[in-house]
Amino acid sequence: MTPVDEVIAKLLSMANTTKQVERLDLTDALDRMLAEDIIASVDVPMAANSAMDGYALDASDLQMQAGGLYPVVDRIAAGYVGQPLQPGTLSRIFTGAPLPVGANAVVIQEDTALESGLVRIKTMPSLGENVRPQGQDVIRGQTVMTAGRRLLPQDLGLIASVGVSRVAVYEPLVIGLMSTGDELVEPPDPLGPGKIYNSNHFTLAGLIRRLGMQVYDLGLVADTPEATERALLKGASSADCIISSGGVSVGEEDHVRAAVERLGRLELWRIAIKPGKPMAFGQVAGVPFIGLPGNPVSSFVTFMMIARPYLLSCQGCADPTLFSLYARAGFASKAGNRREYWRVQLAPGSMGEMTVTRHPQQGSGVMSSVSWANALAEQDIGQDIAEGDWLKVYPIAF
Ligand code: AMP
Ligand code: MG
Repeated sequence: MTPVDEVIAKLLSMANTTKQVERLDLTDALDRMLAEDIIASVDVPMAANSAMDGYALDASDLQMQAGGLYPVVDRIAAGYVGQPLQPGTLSRIFTGAPLPVGANAVVIQEDTALESGLVRIKTMPSLGENVRPQGQDVIRGQTVMTAGRRLLPQDLGLIASVGVSRVAVYEPLVIGLMSTGDELVEPPDPLGPGKIYNSNHFTLAGLIRRLGMQVYDLGLVADTPEATERALLKGASSADCIISSGGVSVGEEDHVRAAVERLGRLELWRIAIKPGKPMAFGQVAGVPFIGLPGNPVSSFVTFMMIARPYLLSCQGCADPTLFSLYARAGFASKAGNRREYWRVQLAPGSMGEMTVTRHPQQGSGVMSSVSWANALAEQDIGQDIAEGDWLKVYPIAF
């Protein structure tokens, strides 16, 4: 059996970005992959401004001290420029308003008192206090974002803050998705004897869309060589990658493997992963093909751990690894000979430390365990888990 890390590394070495670059309005670029660096042409903030409501002053003005009474000669609201500050005077100033020339600190209004038209300073601010200096956030010429980043909402905000309204992103990958199996019925059609609803399509399509990619639905595919070949060729003509679920074990009803071999090239991998194990990778008429296992939990886990980094990398993502953290095991488990991904809930334990609780049903057909879980906990080959051990955990509910 091939170790999971080896499979991921091999797939990543084969991934290449073939998509064109398009320019989009910032609003439309959410979840898309940035195709060029964003370089700031301005300082943010452009000028020093007040971080608080209060009075701007010159902290080095020898005429000023705590307890003194001073005249207020100007009023500066956010968005307006005030008069230069004269020695011995104050300017009323509000959060976000630029500091007037000659000022270098702000005394917050809570540290002052109004007395017959003058302001008493109760506490003298130090130089720079309550001031956001020019370029505190971004300095002109700085690279604020590098190509290969999947744009999060907060990234769009940062890009907007430097005045950019359109960005270069890669066109989304189109993923042809096929569900194999004579037992499959689309909801809500009635279930005949021996049938089950096609659930994998909905899980996988959702996971693909969450990556900012598009789904090309190749539908239900019967367990025959003809139907399988037809679906594969349709995928190869319209998609950038084909993903199937089911039909890659070694049973007589598993036609995917043979069909891919006839139309292109295939490697069948017995991966040291649980749930999962059989998974296929290859190409059909030059289009990459990934055959995920049919069991719903297995197809979810293998997509997240193996297909996801590959697809992201093909989309131009610079760091396709799934975010992980460490948390305490709330269960014990003997070591096995495959890397196991437990469906767990991550929550603070009695001591406040993050702890994972395992779903009682860890069967590869129990989709409610995946829906219940907010994370997958990793148990490596040969790793005995005792309660309280640190486990590597991948959040999945976001
Ligand atoms: P297979 O890999 O085709 O042998 O399928 C393994 C198991 O997964 C069988 O119990 C199938 O019925 C089930 N299965 C396959 N495809 C799907 C699907 N799209 N939705 C739900 N279950 C599936
Ligand atoms: Mg099948």
